[in-house]
Amino acid sequence: RRMFNESVDGLIRRADKYSRIALIYIDLDHFKFVNDNYGHKVGDVLLQEFAQRLTNVVRLKDIVMGDDRDLARLAGDEFAVIVHDFPDDMVLNKMADRILAIFSAGFNCSAGHFPVTASIGIAVYPKDGDNSTDLIVNADAAMYQAKDAGKNQYAYYSQKLALKARREQQIETELKKKDFSEFVLYYMPLIDAKSGNIMGVEALLRWFSSELGVVSPAEFIPIAESRGLFEDLDLWVFNRALDDLDSLQGILGESGKLSINISSAQLGSNVFFLNLMSALQKKGCLSQYLELEITETFEAIMSSQVEANLNLFKQAGFSLALDDFGAGHTSLIQLMDYPIDVIKIDKSLIDRMMGGGLNLVIALIHFCKRQDIFVTAEGVETAEQAEALREAGVDALQGYYYDQPLALDKLLEKYSNTNN
Ligand code: C2E
Ligand code: MG
Ligand code: MG
Repeated sequence: RRMFNESVDGLIRRADKYSRIALIYIDLDHFKFVNDNYGHKVGDVLLQEFAQRLTNVVRLKDIVMGDDRDLARLAGDEFAVIVHDFPDDMVLNKMADRILAIFSAGFNCSAGHFPVTASIGIAVYPKDGDNSTDLIVNADAAMYQAKDAGKNQYAYYSQKLALKARREQQIETELKKKDFSEFVLYYMPLIDAKSGNIMGVEALLRWFSSELGVVSPAEFIPIAESRGLFEDLDLWVFNRALDDLDSLQGILGESGKLSINISSAQLGSNVFFLNLMSALQKKGCLSQYLELEITETFEAIMSSQVEANLNLFKQAGFSLALDDFGAGHTSLIQLMDYPIDVIKIDKSLIDRMMGGGLNLVIALIHFCKRQDIFVTAEGVETAEQAEALREAGVDALQGYYYDQPLALDKLLEKYSNTNN
């Protein structure tokens, strides 16, 4: 590794203002799988034979190379190649494609056939760094982009992606402080399709960060979920919403429901259930006024453990809603198996309704009605959509056409005299 770094720095020292030097960073995907399942000896053979093929690939005549020091294994299954004096990025693309092609049908070697691929990141001197350390760090960051985007591909380092990664890092740091004083719950009305009256509200989290400005839940919730930080957040939301329940019932009446989003990642264990139940008890609230919205984009929602936990909530008297339906993983079969009371048709389906998607939405509504499932349409933005949905028999409507999510006082002000 030291030799490789020195080699990069040496090239940079000798570079003139027209020079470009590319660092191609290669990390094998699923190499750990091979080590864990076939043993380290087999892993070693794979690495050796890959190194040999990599050498063959990058030594092809049309690529101008220096000497052997331009190729290195930097760590376990991480390799790097330096390319210099190349005319344009096409050369780099071609090289990356050739490296990927080594794995085109898995990796075949003397030790067997393995489901290994490669993720590749590329950083170029001078724009992405003017020393070996920066170039390696940035090529590595690009490699992670390639991995995140689904592995078995290459990505160039870009400042935009780097800024995005930095912001995610900052959000994670702030979330880890678990200081919820900057968080506020907004409430978005759900409108009864028959009467046109408000029949429920959905609690939506807002974060006014002194460090980061306004951070939208679409941005910070996936980060909280993927870093395992959602537990405290969800519990905070639940407690906060219960505090507002009395005021909300003033406008919703006894039959109205307060909907709370919960991360589906929570449904894998029953600790969350117990936490919600004890919060409910402490505040002296009844589950019958509450609806839990579960997003179906998370794959964990498919397990039998999840089904068991959903049944616990159901037995405890909560209403269960499947959020963003039509945009995620849930199949129609699962709709019949899961103890779901409500389906919220995703905005993306409503958006396409007037452009040819109407029949699908109508069929979906009819299917749900026959299954005794209550149907809410999300993201309703026009009178035309609202009318078509009402005609199709939808039960409730939610969207900017009626209201944006509102702070509690604004909501109370607007609805205190219109209902009940
Ligand atoms: P969701 O639960 O599907 O909430 C609906 C989102 O769509 C909200 O965005 C809402 O403001 C937006 N929306 C509703 N109607 C319209 C419309 O007509 N037009 C447009 N353009 N947008 C509309 P928001 O508040 O940014 O929330 C995004 C997602 O973040 C939520 O999607 C939910 O999955 C998650 N989320 C929000 N609050 C919480 C929370 O307290 N806990 C958890 N676990 N997740 C939350
Ligand atoms: Mg929701
Ligand atoms: Mg939704």
